[in-house]
Amino acid sequence: MKREAVQTLLLDAAKGMSVFNTHEHIIPQREAQRTIRDLWSLFRICYVRLDMISAGMSPSLWEEGDYGWEEASPYLPAAAHTGYYRMLQGALEDLFGIAPGPWTKSNWEELSAAIARANAAPDWYEVVLKEKANYELSILDQYWSPGGDDFDPRYFRPTLRVDVFFNGYDVQALDRNGNCLAAMASEWGVPLESFDDLLAMFDLAFQRTVDQGGLCAKLAMAYERDLTFNPVSRKRAAAIFGKVNPSPQEIREFQDFMLYETLARCQRFRLPLQIHTGMLARNQHSLAHTNPVQLNQLFLDYPDIKFILFHTGYPYWREGAILAKMLPNVYYDLCWLPVISPAAADRAFDEILDLVPANKLMWGGDGHSVEESYGALLAMRKVLTKVLARKVAAGELSFPSALELMQGILSLNARRLFLK
Ligand SMILES: [Zn+2]
Repeated sequence: MKREAVQTLLLDAAKGMSVFNTHEHIIPQREAQRTIRDLWSLFRICYVRLDMISAGMSPSLWEEGDYGWEEASPYLPAAAHTGYYRMLQGALEDLFGIAPGPWTKSNWEELSAAIARANAAPDWYEVVLKEKANYELSILDQYWSPGGDDFDPRYFRPTLRVDVFFNGYDVQALDRNGNCLAAMASEWGVPLESFDDLLAMFDLAFQRTVDQGGLCAKLAMAYERDLTFNPVSRKRAAAIFGKVNPSPQEIREFQDFMLYETLARCQRFRLPLQIHTGMLARNQHSLAHTNPVQLNQLFLDYPDIKFILFHTGYPYWREGAILAKMLPNVYYDLCWLPVISPAAADRAFDEILDLVPANKLMWGGDGHSVEESYGALLAMRKVLTKVLARKVAAGELSFPSALELMQGILSLNARRLFLK
């Protein structure tokens, strides 16, 4: 059978499949109702804004207020071919039935009105997450409220974002996501005077996550530093706790200590650890700090913890795939890659399927809005079926095997891993 015909059959099958979605940051629906009023306010929480900043837009424009086509037009057309743009465009065309094509002055108002109308409707999350995307469950990384319970259990189960505890040397400080440990402690009704209090609170964060049906923990420290961690004694970390103006080296040692505390809790609570690797959703950083190879020794030292490499580690996806191939405790999450670049996903998936045992592959939408999550699903379906169809047409794979692989990647593998 020709590749195109196989892909059509696979796409039809994919549309009927339920999806176990391993990764989202979707904002609470009442917040979407309040804040998503047009295309600009949707862009504010979507990846395409990062390409507009990369194209020269001042980042502060996104903070300042409600703008529109006039402010977007010097930069948006420059991004009209990127993965971020095309993914969202695909979602909006599918959800709102607008004519295909780039966003322009002439369709800006029409789209904005459709977005506002949809987000005001009480059933919008149900429509997109259930009826359109067919997500059976989505794991929510609510980095704005680690250990918090402000999520809709009809759609989400949490992962515990541990990063705020890595900055626990200063419990009053705001972390990069606006979290403050002292404020969290008072909300949870626990003391936070000493280093022991901090570690007890870290226990509580895990316990709260498990009690709320949470399925894993998540580390995204690649947003702050490299991923090489070395053992540090408890005494040394305790001495850094509460210190005024700790040195960069002291901060690093404290964070190293907290990484091992995280691993101890993943063991105790029997939770897999999702780890951000590869490029960031940000316009500044040292790229080399995100390479998953830095974690190799940890994977060897903790064979009983299931580590999930996020985003394939792109552009270090090959290193990530080989770690997942060699090491039984390393899993490989394809989330975000089809959004970053469908072409990269096409090439990488081809090789990943040669390398990594099928039961270790999974996928998540990684959106902040339901629109973006749905766009990521459309992008994933398209590239996955394209790669699988190519393998079927080349005689490398039977059609039933391709179907089985797709079902594993979109739901069964993650369901087995997280729901045991
Ligand atoms: Zn994410």
